[in-house]
Amino acid sequence: MNATRTINLKNRPTGKPELKDFDFTTSEIPELKEGEVLLKSEYVSVDPYLRGRMSDAPSYIAPFEVGKAIESGIIAEVIESKDDNFSKGDHVSGALLWKETQVANAKGLMKVDPDKAPLSAYLGILGMTGLTAYLGLTEIGKPKEGETLLVSGAAGAVGSVVGQIGKILGLKVVGIAGTDEKVDLLKSKFSFDEGINYNTTENMREAIAKACPDGVDVYFDNVGGEISEAVLFNINKFSRTINCGAISQYNNTELPKSISVQPFLVKKSSSMQGFVVFDYADKHPAGVKQLTDWLNEGKLTYTETIREGFDNIPQAFLDLFEGKNKGKMVVKL
Ligand code: NDP
Repeated sequence: MNATRTINLKNRPTGKPELKDFDFTTSEIPELKEGEVLLKSEYVSVDPYLRGRMSDAPSYIAPFEVGKAIESGIIAEVIESKDDNFSKGDHVSGALLWKETQVANAKGLMKVDPDKAPLSAYLGILGMTGLTAYLGLTEIGKPKEGETLLVSGAAGAVGSVVGQIGKILGLKVVGIAGTDEKVDLLKSKFSFDEGINYNTTENMREAIAKACPDGVDVYFDNVGGEISEAVLFNINKFSRTINCGAISQYNNTELPKSISVQPFLVKKSSSMQGFVVFDYADKHPAGVKQLTDWLNEGKLTYTETIREGFDNIPQAFLDLFEGKNKGKMVVKL
């Protein structure tokens, strides 16, 4: 095995990314040096935030380079090791390249145990999206028992965990998602009290008021845009909004016309705060422990949408913008 396939960013997308924005190349695998490991990719995470890295715009992570491999969270098996901390047969998690096989510096890789949880879970509930849900809600949302928590993007990887943690902490939890099937899932599997399908609801402002009769105390925002504008009409005094994501805006080609949030925030002494999970790296180990405990105690559950095959990674990524996933979207190689 001395050559590997790679998926590169071919063009910076304008608007919605398309398959033509990616290309596949084959290249030699370099010799392994001291401190490096040879890895075979097993599960590849596709995430909405990768869209931001495809544009040449400043953000909290550097943009991808055109003509170079895309990088995301990957679970891989160690095939060969020249690092004392890793042995052949270990499974690791890390920010790795979209390659079938790759040589990686061992620093920055973390061993994951397939006997403790299915490998794909380390990309979702026990990985970046689980930590985003837990730390975003607790650090920024500061939820209190009895309050009402509203979650957008509720049936996705982050949202489905946010809602469950809200229930563990004793909140009333309402979720917003894009299909009736997802709304059913929120209530049947993820313990949400109420769900709203934003695609079939004509007046979101009224629907939120109906589902949250005591108003919204904590809004965990994964989507931004019109849905979040409708939420503003329903926020309570001293409410908190966690600006975790804004997927409805990621493919914009022009600045949107939106309502002004300031009067809403002033009237309700309400706060909004952006959240980036990587800023809380010191809290990740304790966060993973808490998520693992809740999972083992049966208080948390999760759903994954697993696609198969290296060739299907770009399509799996594109499908996030069509709402084709329930829970975490991963690709199994
Ligand atoms: P999801 O698993 O939620 O997948 C994306 C979902 O977004 C889709 O299934 C779809 O669900 C929904 N969606 C797509 N387009 C739109 C739209 N135009 N309007 C409303 N909803 C839409 O992804 P993640 O859980 O991984 O991420 C959720 C959000 O959190 C994203 O915005 C992401 O960028 C952000 N994020 C932020 C992090 C941080 O540190 N700040 C870390 C991780 C994620 P539906 O069918 O309901 O429309």
